[in-house]
Amino acid sequence: IFLVGIVCHMLKCYSDAAYDTMEHSMDFNKALILGIESSCDDTAASVLEISSKGSEIKSSIVHNQFNLHKEYGGVVPEIAARAHAELIDVVVEKALKSAKVVMSDISAIGVTAGPGLIGGVLSGLMFAKGLSVSTNKPLIGVNHLAGHALTPRLTNKIDFPYLVLLVSGGHCQFLIVHSYKKYERLGGTIDDAPGEAFDKAARLLGLQQPGGPAIEEAAIKGNVNRFNFPRPLLDREDCNFSFSGLKTALMRKRNELTEKQGGLFEKDVCDLSASFQQAMHDVIIEKSIRAIDLYSKSTKENQTFAIAGGVAANKKIRHSLKKVCETKKIDFLAPPLELCTDNAAIIAYAAAERFFHGDYDDTTISARPRWPLDNQKPAILGSGKKGSKA
Ligand code: AMP
Ligand code: MG
Repeated sequence: IFLVGIVCHMLKCYSDAAYDTMEHSMDFNKALILGIESSCDDTAASVLEISSKGSEIKSSIVHNQFNLHKEYGGVVPEIAARAHAELIDVVVEKALKSAKVVMSDISAIGVTAGPGLIGGVLSGLMFAKGLSVSTNKPLIGVNHLAGHALTPRLTNKIDFPYLVLLVSGGHCQFLIVHSYKKYERLGGTIDDAPGEAFDKAARLLGLQQPGGPAIEEAAIKGNVNRFNFPRPLLDREDCNFSFSGLKTALMRKRNELTEKQGGLFEKDVCDLSASFQQAMHDVIIEKSIRAIDLYSKSTKENQTFAIAGGVAANKKIRHSLKKVCETKKIDFLAPPLELCTDNAAIIAYAAAERFFHGDYDDTTISARPRWPLDNQKPAILGSGKKGSKA
């Protein structure tokens, strides 16, 4: 008993020390985290193995609901919630099976607890609560945005702090990531998210959803100079964005052309796409330059700028951000596309950061439609926005 006591004490000392140093060296014991994501239109589950050697995604299953929402031109919250509830157990089972593990191998369950569409978040969270109670595994309610913001640590093991630009279908913000639980927002959108703007623009031009890739493809054959769309908020010094006016400007041009010609030719669609993408690109690049300058002024530590979110897939934007970073002598990090868009591996990773700090939740945790990562700063509210999503 004495010997067992000593061994347990040594193990505890080792793991306590490991928790303490994790932020810098990520030196800790091995764990298997089950991640669950259902905050928007992707039902996802993943098994992540994490140890002092790094992280290995053992499985990542993403079931998107694209076909269910296609005819409505946007994600319908009720349909999304029902589809998540119907599939979540199947997706979790698939993730476990494809990782070749069973529930008893799992160290903790990480689940998105917000921000997002509340019905979807509830579907995942209620499922995870039930699983946690029935298997006696720790439950960790993850902020979806933290999942995105911590991705550079999952893929590249980088140290805190670093700067991240989150550009997705539902979110847009610059964050300084100081630790796994401390985030400083430098700016964000006052209305639409950039992915939302791309999706709405594609709908206006009769292109497929998701709109970002469709606009990008049409833009290849288009003339970026044919239409001079506005570059919103560039006259303001801050790192905030506005995308809804840009979409309205596109709609006006489309209507003008349709009235004059009786419809749009393929060339018009390509030119409108190219000019729209160029305007989106220009504001994202210019505001990123400002955010990088602010970050570099604020710290001489890690000079790293990372991007996350579906819009980070845009080749033109990605390429220019890389060039800006070369000029500014700051490392540029763009995680692989499957980790940029919604998935459960990033949720498992964000949970792992908390798991190794002994930072768990219990079944009283609530689903949150809004959940800012930086709760020191007031919500960014613009004309078209009734509340801050994040
Ligand atoms: P997420 O919200 O992170 O799941 O990403 C989905 C969003 O990213 C959608 O709004 C897409 O239109 C957008 N998106 C995906 N690929 C691209 C692209 N190549 N260019 C611009 N936006 C994109
Ligand atoms: Mg998505």
